[in-house]
Amino acid sequence: MIESIHTKEDLAERKTPPTIIVIFGASGDLTARKLVPAIFNLSKDNLLPNKCFLIGYGRSSMSDEVFKDELKLALKSFSRREIHELQWNQLEKNIFFHAGPYDDLSSFNKLEEKITSLEKGISSKAQCLFYISTPPGVFKPILENLGESGLARRNRGTNTASKVIIEKPFGHDLESAHELNLVINKRFDESQVFRIDHYLGKETVQSLLVQRFANSIFEPVWNRNYVSSVQITVSEDLGVGTRGGYYDRSGALRDMIQNHVMQLLALTAMEPPSSLNPESIRDEKVKALKALKPLAIYGENPEVVRASYAAGLVGGKPAKAYLDEEGIPEDSFTETYAALRLYLDNWRWKGVPFYLRSGKRLAMKASEIVVQFTRPPAILFGQDSRFRVSPNLLVIRIQPNEGVTLYLNSKTPGLETKLQPIKLEFGYETTFGSDTPEAYERLILDALNGDGTLFIRGDEAETSWGLLTPVLEHWASQRSHGLESYASGTWGPLEADKLLLESGHEWITGKSYD
Ligand code: NDP
Repeated sequence: MIESIHTKEDLAERKTPPTIIVIFGASGDLTARKLVPAIFNLSKDNLLPNKCFLIGYGRSSMSDEVFKDELKLALKSFSRREIHELQWNQLEKNIFFHAGPYDDLSSFNKLEEKITSLEKGISSKAQCLFYISTPPGVFKPILENLGESGLARRNRGTNTASKVIIEKPFGHDLESAHELNLVINKRFDESQVFRIDHYLGKETVQSLLVQRFANSIFEPVWNRNYVSSVQITVSEDLGVGTRGGYYDRSGALRDMIQNHVMQLLALTAMEPPSSLNPESIRDEKVKALKALKPLAIYGENPEVVRASYAAGLVGGKPAKAYLDEEGIPEDSFTETYAALRLYLDNWRWKGVPFYLRSGKRLAMKASEIVVQFTRPPAILFGQDSRFRVSPNLLVIRIQPNEGVTLYLNSKTPGLETKLQPIKLEFGYETTFGSDTPEAYERLILDALNGDGTLFIRGDEAETSWGLLTPVLEHWASQRSHGLESYASGTWGPLEADKLLLESGHEWITGKSYD
């Protein structure tokens, strides 16, 4: 199994075999905004093999030339770095479009012929990376046809074995995720499969493991003895925009919590892995997820809250209610906000609440993990109500401004003894500059190198769905009964604050400590 790659030198030296990247859904939004810019930037950094071809696959009938023109435009609009004519000329020679339906085996057979003819031209075995970037309804036929056409089995057992990246969402409940895993497992080895969650490609998320396990000051206090709560917030200030139809079938729990937020929880809560081997890391993540206690869904003290946004003001501008957005049925009961209180039933975390929340049209866009430490004993400063002894906080900021802040108590200058929380701050951009690779660059490169560390394993996806599916089922049975409301531009419904009150906590993200 491949060890995780750490240095740019390692990356450049690692010889990826000649590669053919096939993107399904190549005329789509993700391809234009993220995938093609990522591939271009990898190429610009010489991190792709010299022989690397890109085939766009889609139902749209498009010539190679039109496809190339679209990609060039996409690069101009979305690449983090400028594209020079010379670089484009090098790239575009190796770009093709293959038009066909996703559920037609003969079209996959023709794709296989195209791949074989490209391979003949380079007189060496190429590895294929299939990137499924379509709406989830067609994941299954694509995977089946990759199997039937033999494309899934190409060079299996060698370092040029086919690989497949599958976009989110991976299923919409436990049953559908399990079915999708069965479709995959029948055709691919798990080592060939890369279920993507682009959050895992973000610098701060990768750096979480380094922070926890390469600094001796954190690990001794990373447990129930010193941590009083962990909070994870993934908030957006935007509403559903033009994607109302898609969003209404999903909701906050499926769209954000099941994947991004649960992944952040797993990385924060997991035990130290025995090595940086992808399987060791993923084993520990699965163990953490399996330790989560089933949620109290109803009754006197439920641990779940759902709500949808009402009209309000966002950034000083009026914003309409979810039910008034384009494409939302008037009887919709989809949640645009979800909050949970979870406990892990294990030695390290027994009794420590993990509060998770995610929503749209909240006060600001932010993704943060906040580790709140226990208050110091009230012997010196804590006894006097004039002193404000705040708990220490470690805030791991994933966006915006990726970085880490540690809040400590300090004395304010002057003759009086007054306490105030101060911040020790680290920002990625301030320290390392702004030329950080995007998440998709890291993830595509890792998949090409067969490194699954930053991807979700099949059992991880199912464990996360297993915890949340009873909540989804209950909500579906209740329809709008129990669905709270919050004004756009706020931090969500009051009921979500109540989840924390019992343990004397409050949401930290969005609160000013300055
Ligand atoms: P799009 O809706 O843009 O669809 C991608 C392509 O798939 C389309 O260009 C179309 O290509 C084909 N397609 C669209 N609808 C259907 C359909 N009903 N049946 C068959 N084919 C269809 O999707 P995105 O590019 O936005 O997203 C792709 C995947 O990535 C999705 O799974 C999404 O959840 C995920 N994702 C997207 C993000 C984003 O920012 N866009 C972010 C994170 C994940 P053609 O007609 O040419 O075949």
